Amino acid sequence: MDRPFSPSAEAIFEILVPLWPDSGSALSYRSCFELLVAVILSAQCTDEQVNKVTPLLFAAYPDPASLSSASRSDVEAIVRTTGFFRVKTGNIMATAAMLIDQYDGRVPDTIEELTKLPGVGRKTANLVVSVCYGKPGIVVDTHVLRTAGRLGLAPTSDPAKSERMIGASLPESMWTAFSYELNRHGKHVCRARKPLCASCPVASLCPSADDLMTGSAHHAS
Ligand code: SF4
Repeated sequence: MDRPFSPSAEAIFEILVPLWPDSGSALSYRSCFELLVAVILSAQCTDEQVNKVTPLLFAAYPDPASLSSASRSDVEAIVRTTGFFRVKTGNIMATAAMLIDQYDGRVPDTIEELTKLPGVGRKTANLVVSVCYGKPGIVVDTHVLRTAGRLGLAPTSDPAKSERMIGASLPESMWTAFSYELNRHGKHVCRARKPLCASCPVASLCPSADDLMTGSAHHAS
């Protein structure tokens, strides 16, 4: 690679890698199809809550064919506790139907194709290509957006821009692991409220550390 990447992004990567080695999705799934459905359901909902409903959902509808032909009210009843359940039911059933119609029941492996599926945005598409297909993917969720912003790597509130800026700061081979590191770091250390700057291992590289440690809300999201 001869592109100039961000020295601070690479330094942050090196520090965080050993601290958060458990990269991967916290969602429970047994196939790319199940992962795709689980991620659609996780919008505005915790992974833990999604994991409570998917065992029943996938026992009843284990593949695109069964889900696309399910009774809508039965599916709604199962996913109700994930919030926005009518919209989510519509999205997962329509996605299942599209997988049957256009991909022979398989989950596509490109971001371009995935983002054409109902309810699938770039976050979901990046997660599926990286977890299911081992391709580089930057999964920008709320934790990654906030943490990358505070670290000065992607000072933006736009997830698509954040994805591009993080991508430009590191080689592709580091993208997937780095977005998981930022997720874990954001969840546990660089928290939305009361980030643990005083004990943060990357504080010396963080332009927001001083402000947040002195109680300024300037950089908080
Ligand atoms: S120093 Fe504070 S703001 Fe910066 S990454 Fe660490 S916890 Fe987040």
